[in-house]
Amino acid sequence: MPVKLKKINKVLIANRGEIALRIGRTVKELGLKAIAVYEKADSESHFIRLADDAIMIGDRPRKEYLDIEKILWAARKSGADAIHPGYGFLSENADFSAACEKAGIIFIGPPPQIIRDMGNKVVARKIMENARVLTVPGTEDLAPGDEGLKQATSFADKYGYPVMLKASSGGGGRGIRKIKNEEELKIQLPLVRMETLTAFNDDRIYLEKCIESPRHIEIQILADHHGNIIHLGSRDCSIQRRHQKLLEIAPADLPADVLGAMYDAAIRGARAAGYINAGTVEFLVDSKTNEFWFMEMNTRLQVEHTVTEELTGIDIVRQQIKIAEGDALDIAANRVHMMGKAIQVRINAEDPKNNFMPEGGKTLEVYQSPGGPGVRLDGVVYQGYRIPTDYDSLMVKMTVRGYDWEQTIQRLKRSLNNFLIVGPKTTIPFYLAICDEPDFIAGKFDTGYLETHEEIFNYPEQEREVAKLTRLIAEIHARKMNPYAY
Ligand code: ADP
Ligand code: ADP
Ligand code: MG
Repeated sequence: MPVKLKKINKVLIANRGEIALRIGRTVKELGLKAIAVYEKADSESHFIRLADDAIMIGDRPRKEYLDIEKILWAARKSGADAIHPGYGFLSENADFSAACEKAGIIFIGPPPQIIRDMGNKVVARKIMENARVLTVPGTEDLAPGDEGLKQATSFADKYGYPVMLKASSGGGGRGIRKIKNEEELKIQLPLVRMETLTAFNDDRIYLEKCIESPRHIEIQILADHHGNIIHLGSRDCSIQRRHQKLLEIAPADLPADVLGAMYDAAIRGARAAGYINAGTVEFLVDSKTNEFWFMEMNTRLQVEHTVTEELTGIDIVRQQIKIAEGDALDIAANRVHMMGKAIQVRINAEDPKNNFMPEGGKTLEVYQSPGGPGVRLDGVVYQGYRIPTDYDSLMVKMTVRGYDWEQTIQRLKRSLNNFLIVGPKTTIPFYLAICDEPDFIAGKFDTGYLETHEEIFNYPEQEREVAKLTRLIAEIHARKMNPYAY
């Protein structure tokens, strides 16, 4: 099929928060116009100000960003010729990609069929198996009712407990349940099916063998319309809470031959899927033997793409836009250089000691951010910012880069300590505790890290907010300068 080349002039960003800001930055660097859309509750948000134009699309929190018709209406109204969906919201919605296509607007992401295929874990696994990529042993979609339970128990009898019950179209760590025995399976199967229906509007579930204490390692890929597919190295996202990533590292600490085999598998799988644009192939890796199995593919920009950008110097959003325009990749596989180590932490307004309870409604009375060598911030907060109650509590993603693992941790620790935040509780002291934990320092961690290292929650409570503020005011007064303003 001949590739249509179409220059993009105006990009509508169908998202909010830090990722809307991050995409807008590259759009502006490319000399293009950026259009923001926002829900009423986001009227004061930072990402709107950076855009050339901003369109209010309604007042239902978290609903308007999912409203395909409204987003397309905003695109037509603003004259946008392309839409970037970011992550979450409509980014993995095949109908949205199709609706853009139909409206003659370029969707900056894969074509609908690829999103549809990869969005279903059972279908994705099949495509990978056909490409000779090893997958975690698992079932097909379970049949409804007793028949499904029978299929599930016979799989579990064959592979042994524990097993993982998973939503076929799940995402964001939801719809995944570890099952220890048959009795639990009987109880949980209908429950998980119901939860899955509510969360994903699809009640298909399946079973996977549970890999005990695995590492989560993923490969970033880029694929153009001309059949070129390259990888941008690996990320270790093993440090998770409830199957959601907290801290991500690039590259993964694995022997070169294992990484090489993973790159091959990722590219082979992407080729089999007919993949186009940026994507991530996720694997589970046995912590002892380094055997690896395909888990799923994410057909979008990921929260943790920053560590890959810092490692390679490649702007993934820029590449996404170029690919969407029909350009051939101008990065040859042998010109991707990976330098040093990068770590990203998701700094949230949450109280880790209290089950990561969000601190929605609180205001940042004081906010000073770190800087200096190797520090990148992707954030939306500023002094006076109020943590929203309608959206997630992510304040800023901090990505640090260093020459080696030791320096990168030292830099992470230094930068975390350089934050001055008065107002909400944050996940900063929790990450600082991880920086001091010997297994983390030794590079020994898997997806069970938080459960096996409960001591990291024993960090000292943050200095009381009022005390901190008082100290700052006293210092400013005594020195006739703000010691933190640099
Ligand atoms: P990543 O793999 O990029 O770290 P996450 O799993 O943390 O992505 O999800 C990124 C964001 O998208 C989160 O806000 C998450 O809640 C949301 N998300 C991911 N998948 C889905 C989905 N299928 N439905 C709804 N929200 C999702
Ligand atoms: P999501 O679409 O929500 O990201 P994934 O299938 O990528 O779901 O799984 C998320 C996390 O759940 C993994 O990173 C891993 O920690 C855990 N997990 C998923 N499947 C398995 C499995 N078969 N064995 C062990 N852990 C698993
Ligand atoms: Mg995943």
